[in-house]
Amino acid sequence: MTSQLNVIELGNPILRQRAEPVKNIKDESIQKLIDELMVTVIQADGVGIAAPQVARSHRLFIMASRPNPRYPKAPYMEPTAIINPKIIGHSSETAKDWEGCLSVPGIRGLVPRYQTIEVEYCDIPKGDARSDRNGKLQKLELTDFVARIFQHEFDHLEGKVFLDRVESTLDLITEAEYQKLMGIGD
Ligand code: ZN
Repeated sequence: MTSQLNVIELGNPILRQRAEPVKNIKDESIQKLIDELMVTVIQADGVGIAAPQVARSHRLFIMASRPNPRYPKAPYMEPTAIINPKIIGHSSETAKDWEGCLSVPGIRGLVPRYQTIEVEYCDIPKGDARSDRNGKLQKLELTDFVARIFQHEFDHLEGKVFLDRVESTLDLITEAEYQKLMGIGD
């Protein structure tokens, strides 16, 4: 059975380390980690999770945007494993929007991010048997919310958290105030 992993929080030095590239995607421990991250992000109502957040310093994250109580307006996408990602281009425009993080519970911040990014990564085609989980190189353009998730998770691989990106401490609010602001629970 695939189990949920413990998410480490701000203050744990692993969150501040630069993660190491994944050398062998087929490695059993990497495959198991991907399965467990997918379960963990859904159960935690996240839209993404990076390996360093479960104390595994690999360049690997999951994007799993879907509407949930923490992000009611999130677009739906199939959970995708993003391995050894690169941001190879970006728009000049940035946009600010609210972000939260499973490793920074209780806080939301207004974070500026590039509106459009061009990315490259290896993924694992969905539905493939575990033994065929070979990395396939993907190159694509992402915009808006999905681009935001990618940049947030990519930062985790660089040892950064969203708090490092806010322009002012005035752009930080509590989760309870965020819920009020969004009109959630009315
Ligand atoms: Zn995060």
